[in-house]
Amino acid sequence: MGQREGAAGLTTHAPQAAQAVTLPTTLDEAVAALTAVPAAVPVAGGTDLMAAVNSGLLRPAALVGLGRISEIRGWQYQDGHALLGAGLTHARMGRPDFAALIPALAAAARAAGPPHIRNAGTLGGNIASAAPTGDALPVLAALEATLIIAGPGGARREIPVSHLLAGMDMLRAGELIGYVRVPLLHAPQVFLKATGRTGPGRAVASVALVLDPRAGACAARWAP
Ligand SMILES: Cc1cc2nc3c(=O)[nH]c(=O)nc-3n(C[C@H](O)[C@H](O)[C@H](O)COP(=O)(O)OP(=O)(O)OC[C@H]3O[C@@H](n4cnc5c(N)ncnc54)[C@H](O)[C@@H]3O)c2cc1C
Repeated sequence: MGQREGAAGLTTHAPQAAQAVTLPTTLDEAVAALTAVPAAVPVAGGTDLMAAVNSGLLRPAALVGLGRISEIRGWQYQDGHALLGAGLTHARMGRPDFAALIPALAAAARAAGPPHIRNAGTLGGNIASAAPTGDALPVLAALEATLIIAGPGGARREIPVSHLLAGMDMLRAGELIGYVRVPLLHAPQVFLKATGRTGPGRAVASVALVLDPRAGACAARWAP
């Protein structure tokens, strides 16, 4: 059985891998591709998704690759916040310029698996997978970050990350996480992670603690 090259450049041994792979270059094109083929699944870095395909847990009928959407691979400033593209990789968020902006998220990104996973894995994939071991998640919850979700017809809606993680609000058909809006607090914040082994590994427990000077008397929030 030959190997196939996945949308994210990852190799799959799955015998029935997706037959149709679309590679849009804008967020709205990606939403349109998902809407046109309801069975299609978005794939960003593929680190979670291709693992599920290779282990036989997932047999997507079609894939919509997000890797060519340049608008979600960087960040911009907006009203005291950073608007982070969902396609930012852990490797990019771990760099010093990003660490100066959101130190706890950079620390989480640096702790997210071995280098090849950090090079491919994205912020949006980490959130959408919503695994208890997702390193970005306690940081985003503690920062009270929000998600900008792109939907059919150019629609955008904003929800707290914590609502998605708690299952209070879910992604609807055709929707994609486009951006993550994070307040720039310019105050101490930390991310701590315990693993069951030496070296890179998934979290057994993790916690983020941020000080929010906007709250008058410096509120501290933590998320396990
Ligand atoms: C060996 C290994 C070690 C790992 N170690 C860690 C670790 O230490 N810490 C950690 O946090 N994670 C770890 N992971 C998990 C994974 O790397 C991260 O969760 C990563 O951030 C997922 O991003 P991705 O771009 O690869 O997602 P993908 O695999 O491409 O997608 C994951 C899911 O999210 C959906 N999705 C992706 N992007 C979007 C979007 N923009 N909008 C809506 N849905 C979307 C996909 O449809 C899919 O359901 C590990 C994975 C592996 C294989």
